[in-house]
Amino acid sequence: MIQLLSVGGNALEDNFLWSGIIGQKDAIDKIRASLQSGEGSHAWLFVGPRGVGKRTTAKVMAAVLNCEEGGCGRCASCSKISRGIHPDVSLIEPEGNFITIEQVRQLQQFISLKNYEGRAKVFIIDETDRFTQEAANALLKSLEEPPPGVVFILITANLEAILPTIVSRCRQVQFRSIAAQEMIVFLINKYGLSYDKASLATKLSSGVLGTAISFATSAAKKERRKKVLGIIRDIDRFDLARLSFIAEEFLSEVKRPLDELKVKHKKEVSELKEQFGLKGIPSHIKKRLEQRHKREISREEHQGFEEILNILISWFRDIILLKETDRQDLLTNQDRILEIKERVDLLTGADVYECLQIIEEAKQLLRFNVNMQLTFETMLFKIHEVVTVQNSSHFR
Ligand SMILES: [Zn+2]
Repeated sequence: MIQLLSVGGNALEDNFLWSGIIGQKDAIDKIRASLQSGEGSHAWLFVGPRGVGKRTTAKVMAAVLNCEEGGCGRCASCSKISRGIHPDVSLIEPEGNFITIEQVRQLQQFISLKNYEGRAKVFIIDETDRFTQEAANALLKSLEEPPPGVVFILITANLEAILPTIVSRCRQVQFRSIAAQEMIVFLINKYGLSYDKASLATKLSSGVLGTAISFATSAAKKERRKKVLGIIRDIDRFDLARLSFIAEEFLSEVKRPLDELKVKHKKEVSELKEQFGLKGIPSHIKKRLEQRHKREISREEHQGFEEILNILISWFRDIILLKETDRQDLLTNQDRILEIKERVDLLTGADVYECLQIIEEAKQLLRFNVNMQLTFETMLFKIHEVVTVQNSSHFR
C-alpha cells in the first residue's frame, strides 16, 4: 500500500458521481473510505458479475482521483473522463480474445510519460482474466513497482482465471448482482417510468443495469423487441424465402445503432483535436482512441446480435415456464402473456427446449467472427422446422 493522492476539500460530501452507481453500497463504502483516508491502494481488483457497475465505478474513481473538487462531475476533467477522452485515464480491454503483450508494452511506455493534465494516471483494465500468460507476467512487473500517482483498476467477472500473484498485489472489492427491486426503483426515480414498465425493463435486462436502461429509454430498442417478438410468434407461418428476408432484417437491426456510434466517434476526435490545438493529437493517444473506436463498433455489433438472440430466448423460456409452473408472474415478457399462453398449447416441451438449444448454438458461434446474416438464417430455418413439424402433428 502506498501513500496516494488524498481526496481534497468537500469532496466526499459531494455524492454526485457515486450516487450514479446503484446496488453496490458495500463496494462503494470500501473504496470511498480508502480514498478518504489518503491511503488508497495503487492497485485495485473489482470482482463481480458482468454489467453491475464495475467499469462505471472505476471511471468514477478515476474522476475522483483527478478532479480538483474530488469528483464534481461538472469540471473539464470529470467530463473528459466520463466521455472516455481524458489523456491520463486509459481503458485497456481484450483486442480480439486476449489482452496481449503489445498492449501491456504500450501501457508501460505510457506509464513512463509525464501526466498530461491530471493528478493521477489511471489504468482501467477490463476483463483482466483474459491476459495471455506473457502479458500477465509483464503486467505483474508494473504492478510491483508503479511510479507515484499511478493507479491500476483491474476488473473481472472471473476471479479464478487470474494469476494469484496478480490478485495478491491488489486490493480486492466485491461487486454483487443488483437486486431486481433496487433496479426497478432506480428506473422509476431516474426515468419516471411506471412500475410495470420499470419491472418489464428489469426482467428483460438479465440483471445488467445498462441493458435495463436502454430497454427503458431507447425507442429503437423497444421497436427492435416488438419486431423480433412479432416474427418469432408467427414463424410457423413464414416460408423459407421470407425467413431469408427476415434474417436480413435482423442484420439491419444489428447495424442500425452503428451510425449513431460513428457520429459520436467523429465528435470525440474533433474535440480532442481542439484540445491539443496546433500541436496535433500525440500519436499514442490518437492510436489508443482509434483502437477504442474499433472495439466499440465491434462490441456494439456483437451486443446487437446477442440482444436479438436474448429476445428470442426470453420468448421460448416464457413458454416453457408457463407450461411447467403455470405462474404468469415469472414470465419475462409480461406484456405478451396472452400470446405466450396460445403457444403453450401449440408446442411440446421438448420442441421448446430444442428451439432454445438452436438459439444457444447461434450465440456460441458469435465468438468465432461468423457471418451474422447466415447465422440468423440457419437458426431461423431450424426453428421453423421444429415448430412447423410440431404444428402439423398437432392438428393431424
Ligand atoms: Zn470535477
